[in-house]
Amino acid sequence: MSELFDRLKEAVGPAGFIAGDDVGPRYFTDVADKLGPKPSLVLRPASTVEVSEILTLCHAAGQPLVPQGGMTGLVGAGLPAEGEVVLSLERLNAIEEIDTESSTMTVGAGTVLQTIQEQAGAKGFSFPLDLGARGSCTIGGNLSTNAGGNRVIRYGMARDLVLGLEAVLADGSVVGNLNKLIKNNTGYDLRQLFIGSEGTLGIITRVTLRLYPKPASQTVALCGLDDFAQVIRFLRHMQNAFSGGISAFEVMWQSYFAEARKVTGRHSPFADPHPFYALTEVLGGSPERDQEAFESALASAFDAGLINDAVVAKSLAEVNELWQLRDASSEVTRNLAPVLGYDVSIPVSRMVAFAEVLTASIDELHPGNKTVIFGHVGDGNLHVTTTAGAADPEQSKAVNSLVYKLTGANHGSISAEHGIGIVKRPYLSYSRSDNDIALMRTLKTALDPKGILSPGRIFEV
Ligand code: ZN
Repeated sequence: MSELFDRLKEAVGPAGFIAGDDVGPRYFTDVADKLGPKPSLVLRPASTVEVSEILTLCHAAGQPLVPQGGMTGLVGAGLPAEGEVVLSLERLNAIEEIDTESSTMTVGAGTVLQTIQEQAGAKGFSFPLDLGARGSCTIGGNLSTNAGGNRVIRYGMARDLVLGLEAVLADGSVVGNLNKLIKNNTGYDLRQLFIGSEGTLGIITRVTLRLYPKPASQTVALCGLDDFAQVIRFLRHMQNAFSGGISAFEVMWQSYFAEARKVTGRHSPFADPHPFYALTEVLGGSPERDQEAFESALASAFDAGLINDAVVAKSLAEVNELWQLRDASSEVTRNLAPVLGYDVSIPVSRMVAFAEVLTASIDELHPGNKTVIFGHVGDGNLHVTTTAGAADPEQSKAVNSLVYKLTGANHGSISAEHGIGIVKRPYLSYSRSDNDIALMRTLKTALDPKGILSPGRIFEV
């Protein structure tokens, strides 16, 4: 073993050090079943001090590292590359404090999202970040990718839910604080350097999260609609009815809905199929009053010709049944595999034209393909999954270019919530200018002059 490895072992102790044959596949496999090379060393620090010691040693030796959370990322950022040491934050998983007066929770970066949601719930609060991978993703990973998910329309992205953040820089220095303040204009907001930068600028170790009151009611409906213009008018109608308080507005194209029914074995609640399905949800404080207001908003939408049909959940079991169709997206993807998947943002005003041109162009290139679309339409975020060209690397590239060019032409983003990582790196320039990317490189070089943190993720230096 090298001298560096000896010193790293000393820094983290035997429980934090896995080397050679003992390194299990979980440290080089991600949720997309992609495989990196097996790393020769996995470090599992148990404190910020240990993370700092690791980085000090690796910085001095020029040893590259890749931080890991729950390995549920979809862009390959957490997979080790050749020669990289894995830095797993899994032991930094303490719930350090729930401050019920400030409505905050302070946790380690390796804490699983669902644990945070449950612990907040037990104290009468809600931590509203929510996504399909909740049972295995960790808050450090959620923040390093600035995760989105289902309730962004009301509570914002992961970055909007963080008050304080502690991180370790490439040279081992510890920065940031576990501030509980909502208002704090004391110079540069350093938190935001580490949120969404996919582990390239520093290692997030602990965070103070913003909690919300736990909603007393959850009203949910699934509506059938004829065309996308109706979808947008219905969204505005519901936002007006609830003063902007809609907590989810998820739209499923018929193509997706049919596949979701197949994989869940659920029957459609409607007698006839509809071109679009909108799942809309309002969280509130008064179950009876909220249900009444929700049903009356739906009735007026129906009278105004905004929706053609609707089913309202009458119980928590029915709420979960309706959500199940929307939550089935990873099963749908697996069932159609091999597929190409896209996570794009498009201004809502351009969304329908984008989807129409997109499916027509893909059909022209690959007749007989299967393309399914759903999305967080309230946030302008669409997920597109297609079998077109997926089995062949050259054809995949052609479909990628088609989708990303069209996204760029519509002033959209090639990554709404998944990040860039390795997978989307070739397409970054469709969404960011040369000057933007040059400034990112300047920041990277300033914070990590030896390039040891997640090298090659987002862009190459
Ligand atoms: Zn999503």
